[in-house]
Amino acid sequence: MKQNRLIRNDIILASLAVIISLGVYFALAFFGDGGGDIASVELDGKEIMTFSLDKDGVYMIEQCAYSFEVKDGCVSVVETNCKDKVCTAMRLDRNGGEIICLPNKLVIRCKTQKETAVDVTAG
Ligand SMILES: [Zn+2]
Repeated sequence: MKQNRLIRNDIILASLAVIISLGVYFALAFFGDGGGDIASVELDGKEIMTFSLDKDGVYMIEQCAYSFEVKDGCVSVVETNCKDKVCTAMRLDRNGGEIICLPNKLVIRCKTQKETAVDVTAG
């Protein structure tokens, strides 16, 4: 009987190990290097924030009363105080593109766009 219990414990431990490694695998797949596209916001040449293109939401840049929206991996300008509004016509998504607001010295660009081609085979 004692032996049986030991074997059962081994099975439980083994399946726990499998579950944990599967959990780690999926966590890495979603949050790791190959799991998403990161975009950055630069203000006057300095990176002030980064965000994920996989996460929908509206982001505010307090320094220049600017806000933009991320939806389905696509970034678009929601609100800007600049006069020309050129940036509102710009789009940024996983494939590339840039949103540049010259009056605010603001640049939003995808940081991971060059690496995505390499990671395709890993999935
Ligand atoms: Zn603008």
